[in-house]
Amino acid sequence: MDIYALLRRFSHLSGSRLKLTALWLLHRTRRRYLGVFIDPVLACNYRCKMCYFSNAEERAKRRSGKLDAEQIEHIAHSLFHRTIRLQIGCGAEPTMDMEGTLQLVRLGRQYGVPYIALTSNGARLQYEQLAALVESGLNELTISLHGIRRETYEQMMGETADFDAFLQLLESIKQVKSRFPNFNVRVNYTMNADNTDELAEFDTLFAGVPVNQLQLRPVRKIGESEYQNFDLTHVSECLETIIRPLSERCHQRGITVLFPEQIHIDRFSGTESSDPRENLIPLFTYINITPLSYPRHDIHFETERYEDYCRRIGLGRKLFKSIFATRETCSKMENSLSNSLNYDIR
Ligand code: SF4
Repeated sequence: MDIYALLRRFSHLSGSRLKLTALWLLHRTRRRYLGVFIDPVLACNYRCKMCYFSNAEERAKRRSGKLDAEQIEHIAHSLFHRTIRLQIGCGAEPTMDMEGTLQLVRLGRQYGVPYIALTSNGARLQYEQLAALVESGLNELTISLHGIRRETYEQMMGETADFDAFLQLLESIKQVKSRFPNFNVRVNYTMNADNTDELAEFDTLFAGVPVNQLQLRPVRKIGESEYQNFDLTHVSECLETIIRPLSERCHQRGITVLFPEQIHIDRFSGTESSDPRENLIPLFTYINITPLSYPRHDIHFETERYEDYCRRIGLGRKLFKSIFATRETCSKMENSLSNSLNYDIR
């Protein structure tokens, strides 16, 4: 039986109960279902104005070293045989530790992780580094971008931002894609009142660059940052005049543009699920690890494999119970799961 095909069907049929049942089946049959998100180092070479790295106090909180080679080995041994997606770089810049990043990609491949992705500003990724990562098993690169024009790029991405390095990265992507056509390239663009108009020039800047997806997200407040204009009125106005026409032009080039159909100008958070059981799913499937969380993580990476951990906390039983959770018992369950599993959810 192809359990993953079954799971895909379940997700089309939808319904959180069905999804939790499929998840429980994957758990019982010891299949892969984890999304593992790792920051090998909590540092960044940029000081983007919409990011907490632009704030000295927030930066100091995150100054906590990096995962060493042995810790990375322990994480891989404990989790990667059950990992379906490995995401490197979640809340910091992974290429600040190129060795650790490369080690994670190699281990991901060694343990057969089906999808390995990296998110980076790309400034430290020259052709050699990018090619080495893809040769080692990297499936996807997501580039963080906050401006199309040089002056906006350098202004939004802080005083250390280097637009020439970014242009160099685009050239490297062209070369790498010609060698590895299945390698996926994605651009994440955070829209605000000062950088959305120039999205009209996206296709000029990326002319001839084989990007697969462009994801457009409205700015939202994540910790303290230098940028303080969170008013989405102008972004919302650009939806019909800039974003939709861009999406159509990109479509003709084979680029998928992901953007919200509506921009809620009065709130910054995502839509809350009307089905509370939906909120339980990430608690069972996502694990976030940083140099800071490693020593106090509920999973004892140095001594436990994922199965030992599940046995210790009775995860299978909790998962089974969640299928039958009612609206009333869900929030109680959510609290107990986030406490006992000690997962950081993205
Ligand atoms: S590159 Fe990413 S992690 Fe670094 S400052 Fe910019 S948004 Fe933050």
